[in-house]
Amino acid sequence: MSEVPNEYGRLYIVSTPIGNLEDMTLRALRVLSQVDLIAAEDTRHTGVMLQQYEVNNQLTSYHDHNKEKKAPRLISFLKSGKNVAMVSDAGTPGISDPAFYLVRAAVKEGIEVVPVPGPSAFLAALVVSGLPTDRFVFEGYLPQKQSKRLKKLESLKEEERTIIFYESRHRLKQVIEDILETFGDRQTVLARELTKKFEEVRRGKTSEILTHVSSKGLRGEVVILVAGKPKR
Ligand code: SAM
Repeated sequence: MSEVPNEYGRLYIVSTPIGNLEDMTLRALRVLSQVDLIAAEDTRHTGVMLQQYEVNNQLTSYHDHNKEKKAPRLISFLKSGKNVAMVSDAGTPGISDPAFYLVRAAVKEGIEVVPVPGPSAFLAALVVSGLPTDRFVFEGYLPQKQSKRLKKLESLKEEERTIIFYESRHRLKQVIEDILETFGDRQTVLARELTKKFEEVRRGKTSEILTHVSSKGLRGEVVILVAGKPKR
């Protein structure tokens, strides 16, 4: 039995495509049309996306820079019986974006949080990588500062599971160099622009991936996957 007072609304965590509009689920479209409010990381970006599905609904911004101010307002709205959908710029809210903060506040207040699953870049990258999928660790973004990044990588050196990182293309070359320096030359996969026109999944040793990255100014969004330390 649910202990949530039934006068409260629900918070839906709605996944949206990571590049290909066909990846939106039917349920996500229904929920996004029916809720009282959609909290979006970037209202303009989400507005443009929703127009393509002919979904018209009210949007409000919720992002890293306003989450502390915005979360209590959204919680009050939910407590007044209204339903809210949370979407991020792409993929599954809460995976390397600020949805976690709102979910935690909602859980604390006894508000029901409902998943509407769909795409996430790390999972799409993992399943096509060819690296073991039975056990893996998702590390999200590595620290921007190189000294902290090297320290973090050092702490992952003995990890035997497949390791997944998100990265911005601006730091890509430097990060691959740091991975090579810390982990040695392991099997590595660069999954770029998944589900989009210029999708590329490049597999090889870290040194080969580094050569590829260095020879081309690669554009777009990337996931880096590195094989875990070989078992003895
Ligand atoms: N919540 C999102 C998810 O579920 O994947 C991730 C948000 S995070 C702010 C954005 C990062 O996800 C990018 O820097 C990149 O590492 C990765 N990413 C997002 N879309 C991608 C795509 N189409 N191809 C490859 N990586 C992608």
